[in-house]
Amino acid sequence: MDEALKDQFGRRFAYLRLSITDVCNFRCEYCLPDGYQGTPRGFLGRGEIQRLIGYFARLGIRKLRLTGGEPLVRRDVLDIVRDAAATPGIERLAMTTNGYRLVDLAQPLREAGLDAINISLDSLDSENFERITGDRRHVQVMAGVEAALATGFEQVKINTVLLRGLNDFEVADFVEYVRERALSVRFIELMRTRDNSDYFDQRHVRALAVAQQLEADGWTRYQREATDGPAIEFSHPDYAGRIGFITPYAAGFCDGCNRLRVTARGGLRLCLFGDGTRDLRPLLQDDAQETAFRESVFDALFHKTAGHRLHEGDYGDTPHLAMTGG
Ligand code: SAM
Ligand code: SF4
Repeated sequence: MDEALKDQFGRRFAYLRLSITDVCNFRCEYCLPDGYQGTPRGFLGRGEIQRLIGYFARLGIRKLRLTGGEPLVRRDVLDIVRDAAATPGIERLAMTTNGYRLVDLAQPLREAGLDAINISLDSLDSENFERITGDRRHVQVMAGVEAALATGFEQVKINTVLLRGLNDFEVADFVEYVRERALSVRFIELMRTRDNSDYFDQRHVRALAVAQQLEADGWTRYQREATDGPAIEFSHPDYAGRIGFITPYAAGFCDGCNRLRVTARGGLRLCLFGDGTRDLRPLLQDDAQETAFRESVFDALFHKTAGHRLHEGDYGDTPHLAMTGG
């Protein structure tokens, strides 16, 4: 029988974000400004991933997001999606990607069982996009968004990290972008990590002012499901799409935390901004270790803290989000 994953504060965990690689081909200034510098091997193999998802599904995980690094750099990404979609208990399968291969892969991913997709797009302008991501494939990513929309995913979302002086002046363009497109653009407040603190001081923008402007323009807060996570979303009768905000520095952000994270090497992370990981990989080597796996996860959850300590200047040991699957 399924056991619910709960922590000592009564929060239930039915959502897992699994990184399938640390490698990324972009150099987003706030994440990997010098490109990927690690050892590009040694990530969980397909069999380990399949076992991990099965174990977690039997622990009550219902929603799974595949992320990275850039998940689409993995050659076996379609097999991983197919395995995950076929896992009993997994009701919703999503992915976060920089979108560089979506023109070719949107349809195969949908056919393999992917339900929803988040595409990172920090600018609608090619030059600006290259300035922020270090990559010239803006046209390709934009076409990837259209391919995703045409494919009929249950949900297409755009992630845009708000950056002072780099894209905060594009908010009106993004709002216009959703006028005819049934997707949700989510402005994410830049998060401080171990490696980007100077950048953070220079570029962090509070999303609240942007949200207030939207409300003044007739957008209304959209009531989302309790299990949807920490974004707040706005809709408007004249627009097909929605605008959302993810504000990790806002009060109460951690109260509804419903997610666990596993790194591409099998480390369980309880908080994006926490310290350390619980190594689950040794328990993924054969089916006999499911009980030990459960015990390890329950024990780790028992130590999950009430919230992050970003306000005290403690942003944990995450070097950048490519490492933990942001
Ligand atoms: N490479 C994929 C992508 O960019 O969509 C998946 C991994 S990336 C780490 C996941 C998301 O985290 C992206 O939307 C990215 O913009 C966001 N992200 C990365 N570093 C961030 C930071 N320091 N603050 C806020 N968001 C960040
Ligand atoms: Fe790569 Fe995503 Fe990080 Fe950009 S945000 S460098 S695309 S992992």
